Amino acid sequence: MNSVLDIEKPVKIDKIFQSPRLNLNQALCPHCDLVVDLPRLKLNQKADCPRCHTTLKINWSEPFNRATTYSAAALFMLILANLFTFVSLSVAGLSSNISLTSVLEIMVDQRYDLLALLFMIFVQILPAFCMFALFCISTRMPMPYRLKIFLAKWLILLKPWCMVEIFLVGVLVSFVKLMSYGSIDIGPSFIAFCAYCILHVRAFQYADKTWIWGTIAKAPDIRPLKAGVSGLEQQVKSCHCCGAILVEQSVNCTRCFTTSYARKKESIQITLALLIGSIVLYIPANVLPIMTTLAFGSSMDSTIMAGVVLLWGGGAYPIALIIFIASVLVPSLKMGAIAWLCWCTKTKKVLSGHRMMQVYEVVELVGRWSMVDVFVIAVLVGLVSFGNLMNIFPAQGVIYFAFVVIVTMVASVFFDPRLMWDRRSENLKRKLETNKRSLHLGITKLA
Ligand SMILES: [Zn+2]
Ligand SMILES: [Zn+2]
Repeated sequence: MNSVLDIEKPVKIDKIFQSPRLNLNQALCPHCDLVVDLPRLKLNQKADCPRCHTTLKINWSEPFNRATTYSAAALFMLILANLFTFVSLSVAGLSSNISLTSVLEIMVDQRYDLLALLFMIFVQILPAFCMFALFCISTRMPMPYRLKIFLAKWLILLKPWCMVEIFLVGVLVSFVKLMSYGSIDIGPSFIAFCAYCILHVRAFQYADKTWIWGTIAKAPDIRPLKAGVSGLEQQVKSCHCCGAILVEQSVNCTRCFTTSYARKKESIQITLALLIGSIVLYIPANVLPIMTTLAFGSSMDSTIMAGVVLLWGGGAYPIALIIFIASVLVPSLKMGAIAWLCWCTKTKKVLSGHRMMQVYEVVELVGRWSMVDVFVIAVLVGLVSFGNLMNIFPAQGVIYFAFVVIVTMVASVFFDPRLMWDRRSENLKRKLETNKRSLHLGITKLA
């Protein structure tokens, strides 16, 4: 579900599992593998899976115009955000200006190329590529079919890796940290970046997977399926790239040519291996300093927890809480949640599928926000550069921490949530046969 959208009370459709003769589109839920009949949606309505509440289809009014406008405006603002001064800091008569490009240069100068690369990839390159891809798709400009597939595939895949809004929060947190040192002035690029952030979020609202692939090509035809029963039981699978329903024996999707699997291969094993990797990285991320402050000839190393304690001691309670939640609580809970999901799925423990799905969604949604602290350091390093007076340098811990976030995000990508529902399919099938009204497709009116 998209949290940005204003959602009104869902409308329940009782007949959804009772009218097999109705000419309805069918969808195979990518998260719980349930076959669902989709009615024709009204404008600004979305349909959620009746079992796991994953959004299956959104019917925006004027999606082409809106996606084109927002993506083009976002790209324009990104160019402006890179041209001028982003922010300046004045301390004891000295002034330091940074632009988004100079943050990068400073990190490269200090031999933190990897940190510079992460900043460049997550804040500049990937979001710019996604906006460009959305613009190309929504304008329906003539291009080879393979190129359309390439753009659509990577647009959907890279969506969670665009961290523009997380960087903005990182900038605001670093402002609060710097307030005690001197005065901060925002530059024209900062305003452009804020506008870019809003336009980027709005553009992504229209980057709905079903709509995007529907604009490129029609999904392959398939025999009518029985709604309310899992795809696996009916020998069909969902293409993880474009969402088309495919025959289980087929190897490549006929629409996007991606090799598809009924279930991700070795999902639990790969997820657990990545989880162990992230736990190993989490130790140096917390023990080693994440930044070094050089002030008046003396240097002070700061770990994640030391930074939180310092902020708390200085009375910046909300910022201390944000850093504590993003850098300590979220990564720990995320690792615990992934381990719990793997354990429940592997041991076939009978737990509420909804409970597991909620945990999975939270893991997917909040995990990336741990990058806040990494971006705070990037901004501090760029801004606090006053020769012999005062300097802030990144330290090794921040690289380990960035990789903890990345590895846990990759782990959740490899986890196949359909495995959580497989053991429940038999029970559900029986339940549906006795009470066909027990599940309702969630139709929601969007603002
Ligand atoms: Zn579902
Ligand atoms: Zn496909």
